[in-house]
Amino acid sequence: MSIKQNLNIIKQSLPDHVTLVAVSKTKPVSDLMEAYETGQRIFGENKIQEMADKHQEMPKDIKWHMIGHVQTNKVKYMAEFVDLIHGVESFKLLKEINKQAKKHDRIIDCLLQIKIASEDSKFGMSPEDASTLLQSEDFSSLKNVSVIGVMGMATFTEDQDQIKQEFGVLKTTFDSLKTVHLDLETISMGMSGDYQLAIDCGSTMVRVGSSIFGKRN
Ligand SMILES: *Cc1c(COP(=O)(O)O)cnc(C)c1O
Repeated sequence: MSIKQNLNIIKQSLPDHVTLVAVSKTKPVSDLMEAYETGQRIFGENKIQEMADKHQEMPKDIKWHMIGHVQTNKVKYMAEFVDLIHGVESFKLLKEINKQAKKHDRIIDCLLQIKIASEDSKFGMSPEDASTLLQSEDFSSLKNVSVIGVMGMATFTEDQDQIKQEFGVLKTTFDSLKTVHLDLETISMGMSGDYQLAIDCGSTMVRVGSSIFGKRN
């Protein structure tokens, strides 16, 4: 099936309150343009350089989401245009995003990445650390970042019960963080293999790549 057909099928299956991020990492601009022409405006990339290059080449009404692990020294390459950074997992990174956003007179939206998977390879903060961060004075002094939600990745497994349990942890974490930080509105969870389950568990933003663009090499 074509990118256009894939995208239309997925869009039809999403409830109104769920935002679709089309994860286009490693894919050529021509593929992204096919999605763009189908109406898609939010694209997710996991490498800052690749995202910056695609941003340069593509229409300026696209919203670029950084969904990958962010190195502090690379924030400057996306600060001018990035729409949402999903993978914020330390105060140090948030501080750097704030600094770079300020240079461009912007407020950059961010999600705190929470570690919900049992795998060691996955990044993220503990729910406790996220809570401490959001209540700290250091955090309240950052005027050029806005934390609007949380993001998480479930363990790579076939075990639906385990995935469901981990998504449940993210939803519970979101609910409890929202009691101390009212600005929270977004729960970014769910990828090609598990986005329907994620929505059942409370996701408001799904990050779908291969089901739209096909397998990556
Ligand atoms: C690649 C990636 C996705 C999309 O994965 P698919 O299985 O291709 O849908 C989602 N989230 C993150 C953080 C990713 O790196």
